[in-house]
Amino acid sequence: MNNKLNAFELKQMFICVAQKVVESEKYLTVIDKKIGDGDHGTNMALGFKEVKKELESKNYDYVNDVFHDVGMLLLDTMGGASGVLFGTVFISGIVGMEKNNEIGLEDFADIFKGSLNALKKRGKAEVGDKTMVDALEPATLALDKAVNDGNTLIAGFNSAAQKAFEGKEHTKECIAKFGRAKSYGKSSLGLEDAGAVSVWIIFDSMAQWIKDNKSI
Ligand code: ADP
Ligand code: MG
Repeated sequence: MNNKLNAFELKQMFICVAQKVVESEKYLTVIDKKIGDGDHGTNMALGFKEVKKELESKNYDYVNDVFHDVGMLLLDTMGGASGVLFGTVFISGIVGMEKNNEIGLEDFADIFKGSLNALKKRGKAEVGDKTMVDALEPATLALDKAVNDGNTLIAGFNSAAQKAFEGKEHTKECIAKFGRAKSYGKSSLGLEDAGAVSVWIIFDSMAQWIKDNKSI
């Protein structure tokens, strides 16, 4: 078992992630319609369709460039608050990182820690504010814990996907403090946050790809 992905494998993983996000458009739209303006599914599908198209047409030597392209494409094509926020997630983690042909669990943990910090700095939301942070923070902490426990890549991502799931479920119990959902106040209780659901879909499809392609 090889616990690292090369740039080609990372690209394939993000193509799979993009496909899953695009397939979730309707589900995300339904959620964002309840406590938002209903555009989250369309925004995400727009951005990730471009990610899929662009990645499929390019060859990469460095894993850094794959992350960079995903983030820039989301930033350029999604628009709205979430375009900046999801762009930030993929771009900021690799800032200052040495160019590398491969990526392992420790690198993923470092990248997502950088992403989470940048997202929180930009959006000002903390866990419990009913945003994508509620899924990204526990997923990132799970990757870090897996590194410290000496776990495999797949074990780390399985745990991150599970924590992202629990995080997005927990948003049902939170009152929205940011974005358009904020104006719904207590009536946002019982409903999940669309951005947190997207983060869970992203981590879940990363774990699925690794399971299917790297665990034997
Ligand atoms: P918009 O809010 O412009 O309509 P979307 O509907 O695409 O954009 O995205 C909404 C999602 O963005 C929310 O579900 C939430 O997870 C996330 N979000 C909004 N504001 C913030 C913020 N300040 N910090 C982190 N995430 C945020
Ligand atoms: Mg919206």
